[in-house]
Amino acid sequence: MVKSAGKTDMKSLTFSELQERLRNLGEPSYRTIQITDWLYKKRVDAIDKMTNLPGSLRSRLAEKFSLGTIDIVRVLGARDTTRKFLFRLTGGSLIESVLIPASPALYGGKADRRTICVSTQVGCAYGCKFCASGLEGFSRNLGANEIVEQLIAVERATGEKIDNIVFMGMGEPLANLENVLRAIRIINANWGLGIGARHITVSTSGLAPQIRKLAEEPLQIRLAISLHGATDEVRNRIMPINRRYNIETLLSACDYYKAHKKQHLTFEYILIADVNDSDEQARLLSHHAKRLSAKVNLIPYNSVPGLPWMRPSEKRQEKFLSILRSQRIPATLRREKGHDIDAACGQLRLQTERELRKDVIAKL
Ligand code: SF4
Repeated sequence: MVKSAGKTDMKSLTFSELQERLRNLGEPSYRTIQITDWLYKKRVDAIDKMTNLPGSLRSRLAEKFSLGTIDIVRVLGARDTTRKFLFRLTGGSLIESVLIPASPALYGGKADRRTICVSTQVGCAYGCKFCASGLEGFSRNLGANEIVEQLIAVERATGEKIDNIVFMGMGEPLANLENVLRAIRIINANWGLGIGARHITVSTSGLAPQIRKLAEEPLQIRLAISLHGATDEVRNRIMPINRRYNIETLLSACDYYKAHKKQHLTFEYILIADVNDSDEQARLLSHHAKRLSAKVNLIPYNSVPGLPWMRPSEKRQEKFLSILRSQRIPATLRREKGHDIDAACGQLRLQTERELRKDVIAKL
């Protein structure tokens, strides 16, 4: 949980944790209901605005707790298209979220509605070779409150209700599992943001032991595996995590997950020209998907300045999709909505940081 200047951020606590803290202050249990109502329904940005609490309690709370918000520093994209939000956190780090408008089902059963893709870390330590987030290395984990606040800040800025959340922004969510689970509990709870577990998808690049841990959680959230290669040879080339947990280790962790959960798994597969887009990869991917009754989301690669990878031709993308479909694998090919605004994870933050750095250097 997040502490700044010795204070705990209120939005990093679950209901029972907040209740416990308030009990220790000698407060009755209905105060927890009042406070969570201010935090997640009325969404105040200061403890002093919780006006149905006695003034003396507000002062005592302000001594013990903080109530941070995150500032939007840049927005790219327009209403009804994919929009990217760049946030500055306390301490100056930059993270980003992407708001994706209604589109055919990517993760849910019917059409997904307004989906937010949130970040879970500043930077990323996993160094996937095609990803902007990994380029500048890892800085720190986000606190649960900083994850929850991305959703609240985007709803506040747009006036739109988000009903689907995917943990696929900057960072590896399962490397920050404790804070991610805490955030999910807050997002899912009726006293919190009230988004159903089936509308929450966590993705991972392949942290097999954490997939097993997640399988043992009672939450019925969805899991997406960022596979991006159907053999160890391809995954080793573009995803260093595969050298630690190879495909068989990863897939057997997925078997374990399936045995514990009702939810279907999804394989995310970024199509990169001449790397993972061959017919052979499509056939092997079908084989893995069949084993787990998984759905496949194909995502044509968004080029990242400074990286050599290319998007395959549309013809190649369609051929890859047709091989999956011929094997009766439920598969979608995403016509990437964010292509024009650099929606691939980490790109806006990287671009802004580089511009800021140039500015600073120019002023020296
Ligand atoms: S793809 Fe995900 S896990 Fe890989 S470097 Fe990027 S943010 Fe990290």
